[in-house]
Amino acid sequence: MKEYEDAFIVDHDLEIHPCALIMPPMDDDTYEKFKVDISGHGLIHPIVLYQGKVLDGRNRYNACKELDIEIWAREWEGGSDPVTYVVSNNIHRRHLSINQLAIAGAKAISFWADEAKIRQRESGKEHSNNLVNQEPRISAPVQQSGKSGKAADLAGEQFGVSGRSVSSAKYIIDHGTEEEIEKVETNKAALRPTEEKIRERIKEVPEKITPEPATKSPSKFNETNDSIKWARWSWNPVTGCKHGCKYCYARDIGNRFHGGFEPEFYEDRLSAPQNTKLPYNAESPNRNVFVCSMADLFGDWVPQEWIDKIMAAVSNAPDWNFIFLTKNPKRLVDIDWPDNAWVGTTVDCQDRVSDAVEAFKQIKAKVTFLSCEPLTEHIQFPDGTLKLFDWVIIGGQSASSGAPAFQPEWEWVEELHFAAREEGCKIYWKPNLTIHPEEYPNNL
Ligand code: SF4
Repeated sequence: MKEYEDAFIVDHDLEIHPCALIMPPMDDDTYEKFKVDISGHGLIHPIVLYQGKVLDGRNRYNACKELDIEIWAREWEGGSDPVTYVVSNNIHRRHLSINQLAIAGAKAISFWADEAKIRQRESGKEHSNNLVNQEPRISAPVQQSGKSGKAADLAGEQFGVSGRSVSSAKYIIDHGTEEEIEKVETNKAALRPTEEKIRERIKEVPEKITPEPATKSPSKFNETNDSIKWARWSWNPVTGCKHGCKYCYARDIGNRFHGGFEPEFYEDRLSAPQNTKLPYNAESPNRNVFVCSMADLFGDWVPQEWIDKIMAAVSNAPDWNFIFLTKNPKRLVDIDWPDNAWVGTTVDCQDRVSDAVEAFKQIKAKVTFLSCEPLTEHIQFPDGTLKLFDWVIIGGQSASSGAPAFQPEWEWVEELHFAAREEGCKIYWKPNLTIHPEEYPNNL
């Protein structure tokens, strides 16, 4: 991705932007071939993000996710409205049927209408505040026309089908069942007959059915990237952290997608252990939940009440196994750890060794662990102290906005690895540790 200076690596748990869903998904066969292609040469062009969601490249995004390939992205540069951007980027790349183009055009009308409303609101606000509108704005078809019939004609022009087809598709989307829409979109039913069938049916309905009010969906764990083998799930009832590590990747995500990285407590997420379906397969990593991957739950600034509430939720969910990690291990000492908790501390430099050792002499947990990720310098533990940890993780430093990617010296890794092995620890090398010995005989 060298040619894209503004590209960055993103997580595998992004949402797809609704505008991206205007274009129909690939059929299964095409998608499988597409995946084979991607597995051969990786991602050639970064996907495009808007408001933290995937705007362009959702098939590439999904394929990389399934294949566990690094995903590069860049921010949408603006310049038109996001719908027009998606349409113009995709319309010629794919062989779409008239049905699919008409449905896409009909979906686009609604987005353009919303976009036009937002822009009208914004420009009104900006006008009254006497501010200058600095972004170039291109009028969407609905804004140009003001009438829905004309909007269908204009959308039809953009999508290369007749306005009549777009109108039919719009009627089907607005009034048809999911099955009817899907049939049209997958070319199993024709546009006009489906529209007529729905019109007939609607005439028979004596009164308008009021839909159920929407309810907020219950909070669940997030499924992690497949490459995180030791925890299939993450759970973030607290986000944000004040340690200020330069290499912090969580802060990049917080700033980019959530408007900041100040510590926050989401009490509604405490029910996630109850709301997430336990995996059928009882293999232990499938039940491992990484707690607060976007925070340090035990930072000095975190109110005890937040920790107590989270620990109560953990104790009430004995079927799940929770993994806790902190850079402030002294705060782990007074906790009565339940059996379904693995408790760890990060030691990325020598200065953190003594606090880690002192704390873990007192901590009673079923599994204790040490995370030396990123291993930023040569670290030595006093003899006999590594046995305080059941598990030692060694890793490199992934790139973030605050620090470049970094690989530790081979000697640092080797020494830590053998010391841990000698004291009976299990060892885990993170995939971002790519260093390996490069020695030659006879000093060649
Ligand atoms: S402790 Fe973790 S979350 Fe906090 S700043 Fe450092 S890397 Fe980021």
